[in-house]
Amino acid sequence: PVVTRFAPSPTGFLHIGNARTGLFSWLYARHHGGQALLRIEDTDKKRSTQEAIDVILEGLDWLGLEFDNEPVYQTQQAQRHADVAMKLLEAGRAYKCFATPEELTEMREQQRAAKQPLRYDGRWRDRDPSEAPEGAPFTVRIKTPEGGETIIEDAVQGRVKVDNREIDDFILLRADGSPTYMLAVVVDDMDMGCTHIIRGDDHLNNAFRQIQVIRAMNGANGGDPIEDGWEEPTYAHVPLIHGNDGAKLSKRHGALGVRDYRDMGILPETLFNYLLRLGWGHGDQEEFSREEAISLFDISAVNKGPSRFDMKKLLNMNGNYIRVADDARLAGLVAPLVGPEADVALLTEAMPVLKMRARDLNELAEGSAFLFSKRPLAMTDKASALLDDEARERLAAISKRLHAETDWTIDALEANLKAYAEELELGLGKLAQPLRAALTGQTTSPGIFDVLVLLGKEESLARIDDQTG
Ligand code: GLU
Repeated sequence: PVVTRFAPSPTGFLHIGNARTGLFSWLYARHHGGQALLRIEDTDKKRSTQEAIDVILEGLDWLGLEFDNEPVYQTQQAQRHADVAMKLLEAGRAYKCFATPEELTEMREQQRAAKQPLRYDGRWRDRDPSEAPEGAPFTVRIKTPEGGETIIEDAVQGRVKVDNREIDDFILLRADGSPTYMLAVVVDDMDMGCTHIIRGDDHLNNAFRQIQVIRAMNGANGGDPIEDGWEEPTYAHVPLIHGNDGAKLSKRHGALGVRDYRDMGILPETLFNYLLRLGWGHGDQEEFSREEAISLFDISAVNKGPSRFDMKKLLNMNGNYIRVADDARLAGLVAPLVGPEADVALLTEAMPVLKMRARDLNELAEGSAFLFSKRPLAMTDKASALLDDEARERLAAISKRLHAETDWTIDALEANLKAYAEELELGLGKLAQPLRAALTGQTTSPGIFDVLVLLGKEESLARIDDQTG
């Protein structure tokens, strides 16, 4: 059975790039009827506040990615990480390194001067620990293979390999007994039974190291297995998201956090679909329901190259999702953005016309505000410029006609105003502009007859009469 995991580090926000690998992990598990697990990598104690953790959980929840476990907290597994290191030590697949920090700094300086790669030179690999002074602090380092190469058949990157001489004997346990990240990740992955590691390609280099721990535990690099169940997982290293200019996505490209997109008025289904479509495709289909995504997703169809984040495309997609979203749901989302005066029932009724134009929920709220404006309406500069003397005279005439109108429907109102426009030998648009200004205080709004119907006869006439004095 497939088991995937998403393993974010709490940093104060849920980066959309991480959210995307989380989405891929989740989809892969769902597609295969497996388990999607969540692990919080809270080893950076300063950044891993409860608040930072909640931001991640809330972002995942908002995107609709529900996981199959109570999140595993990496720091709570520290004892287990240390136990694994000690087992490797006992088996002779790891060793104590008594090199002092000063000594290691000197080693690196010499390597730098000789223009050699900076890596631990294995100086304690074959030394007897009894050579160290009594009670001297030590780190535990893994013995990595000295010759040959390590090959990974990555589900996205294809076959990738590294010369084992490039992998030094890295630290598993620090001198204070705390596990390193490199150890913690792989122990947790194995303990959680992960079969597929889907994550950002910035972790590809780590995979070559993490695999050494697995092979040391299962005996693939020689010797008997130390524990059962240390099967090498399938790796899938997903390219990062880049900005429109091709550079790695950063603050200067705009918002990075999932919460930022929510606050921008993006619907969760839009971000879900957009992140899915970034670097993954199925023919030329643009939009996928959650069910379609689950049934069609395949990790092998993820592009090897970086994908570009395109805000305009996201907004257009969001407009499409808004237009098909349920009216009552949209009304519920928009009401708090409009303010305490908003009425959800009226918003729901108006939503079919309101939602035709908006690309995000904030725009939708702005476009809805006129429904709840208090008289006399505040006017934008553009709107008041439309209300010159001639316009006011016409509004007075319109008011008279509309007072007499008994059928307050789109069709009847349209017929009524068309007749007046013909009388004046004017286009209907010329009449509609000042009328819109009077009714909404703005120069853009839904269709003018929709506005009249939504406001109702009494309120419409009151707003018009406010302008005719
Ligand atoms: N915690 C790491 C990150 O947020 C991910 C580690 C992993 O997926 O192996 O970048």
